[in-house]
Amino acid sequence: MADTIIESGTLARRGLMFILSSPSGAGKTTIAHRLLKEEGAALRMSVSVTTRPMRPGEVDGVDYVFTDRPGFERMVEEDAFLEYAEVFGHWYGTPRAEIRAGLKVGQDYIFDIDWQGTQQLYQRAQGDVVRVFLLPPSIEALEQRLRSRATDSDEVIESRMARAKSEISHWDAYDYVVINDDIETCFRKVKMILEAERLRRLRQVGLIDFARQLMR
Ligand code: 5GP
Repeated sequence: MADTIIESGTLARRGLMFILSSPSGAGKTTIAHRLLKEEGAALRMSVSVTTRPMRPGEVDGVDYVFTDRPGFERMVEEDAFLEYAEVFGHWYGTPRAEIRAGLKVGQDYIFDIDWQGTQQLYQRAQGDVVRVFLLPPSIEALEQRLRSRATDSDEVIESRMARAKSEISHWDAYDYVVINDDIETCFRKVKMILEAERLRRLRQVGLIDFARQLMR
């Protein structure tokens, strides 16, 4: 960690991996996009590799790096992933090289990954990981959000609700849990978590020299 260089304020700081998870419909995407907009270059989205087909409007290399199954398996063999998991029949993974290099120079990353990925990342890189989980204010509010954003049949909505409930069951594997009953308040809380985590002593690797100077 001693070779961390980027200046944050005045002191060198190691970057962090900010994981934002939630059942779909609880506002994760809105919060993540806003954070990315406000933070500019200080916070980057980690772009995952996936075997799932590209959806209309998605851009290769921006939303995901799209690959096929053999391509993904090759990356697994090369140990190119920090974590990977099968989600709804497709494979998703977080590429290791860029993140490792970025963290060293104080780059922060935001992750939109599920609980399995969160667990793996935490096991591999505990000290760099901050886990935040968003909950809806009520199950009715969640259902309303899922209904309002798609023209899906009741059957599809029901299966989404079942999936959301199973995602909620992992709430206690996170460092922070924020109930999203108001998007502004929720955003402010998430931002405070990010700011506070950046100030952790162990991340501020420039402190050793700074404190030495003060004590000279
Ligand atoms: P979608 O295909 O709708 O973009 O994403 C489906 C699910 O895969 C989401 O729950 C998302 O959080 C998860 N996901 C996306 N990228 C990764 C990844 O790199 N690792 C893991 N473990 N999950 C991911």
